Amino acid sequence: MEGIKSFGSLEIYYLKCTMWDKKEIDLRSIVDNMKNRSNSGSLRAFSGIMIFCLMMAMVRGCSSSRKENASKPETAGTGTEVPESQETESAATESESLTETETAAGPATEPAAEQLHYESYYDGSLGFCGDLRGTILVVSIFADDAGTQWDPESDEDRQMQLDTVENLRVAAEYLHEQALNYGSDTEFIYDWTQNEGICYEASFDETLVRTDGGGYAAERNWIADNVDTQALKDRYEADHVVYYIFFNTGFDNSVNPWSIGHTSSYGGENGPFYDIELTNLYVRFKDFVTMPSVYAHEMMHAFGAHDLYYANYYITQEYVDHLAGSGSNDIMYTVTSGHEITNEFTELDAYYTGIADSSDDAVCWGLGETEH
Ligand SMILES: [Zn+2]
Repeated sequence: MEGIKSFGSLEIYYLKCTMWDKKEIDLRSIVDNMKNRSNSGSLRAFSGIMIFCLMMAMVRGCSSSRKENASKPETAGTGTEVPESQETESAATESESLTETETAAGPATEPAAEQLHYESYYDGSLGFCGDLRGTILVVSIFADDAGTQWDPESDEDRQMQLDTVENLRVAAEYLHEQALNYGSDTEFIYDWTQNEGICYEASFDETLVRTDGGGYAAERNWIADNVDTQALKDRYEADHVVYYIFFNTGFDNSVNPWSIGHTSSYGGENGPFYDIELTNLYVRFKDFVTMPSVYAHEMMHAFGAHDLYYANYYITQEYVDHLAGSGSNDIMYTVTSGHEITNEFTELDAYYTGIADSSDDAVCWGLGETEH
């Protein structure tokens, strides 16, 4: 099951992503860019992002019993019901972390206590995510849209939600090990069955499972209105925060997952259009349940990795052709099926995610410079 060859027929499942020219910050440019790519005829479908929606979303807490608005003070640290769940290898570590951070943050009811902000090594200059090191908090948001819903009464849906935790575990373990090869230590906090305040439910009126990538603004605004990110960073002493928005798509879904990564740098003079990193994760795609390699691929976008399966501002067509010709297994070029991630995390990926000072391929092939 593993490997690029067995997965070769699923090239279209290679994910979306962020590849905009920093200079192309106006919407027309983005739309034109998308049109050009959609006309390319490539099976490696591009799901671009259009920022034109500004819509309201109805909110409810993560547990089915909490349908009240998940306003900032209440949700940060209290919005998640801890379910009877699978055990994960990281549970002990994360429980330990929680104990420490609870002590550091202090009880929410403590009167007149000055909020102590966690002093991250990262200054936030590139959105919520910097380089791939330190403590990374993953916030899960299970979202309904006009076409997909999570049924709180469905055992299948509940299991699928729990499966996303397992997939995140595999992805986090993979990225941790890969980053270590470049001297970067990471800790991922993602398990909302063990850590409070990092799981939410949201309901959107509009269609967000869509090929044009529209909906970033709605999702970004929902997060701004409902997740107290600073409180979470303080509580978990997190250096970075990534949001995974999960949609309960069926096997008939053909829309690729997509991410906005390393975002604020795209705002330019017109301001930060994209000031947080988020992933739209569709849990099923055609005949497949979305696998851990996709979770890892999307996570890497948040830290600056670029797609390598099509030419973009950073990546030349020549390099894309080179990867195709050499049967690349780079996780930003292809993703493997199965529960285990067998893709390569290359020096180029390390360079773009800020944990390698240079990349031979970037030099040799004239690729774009890292944002770090
Ligand atoms: Zn991608």
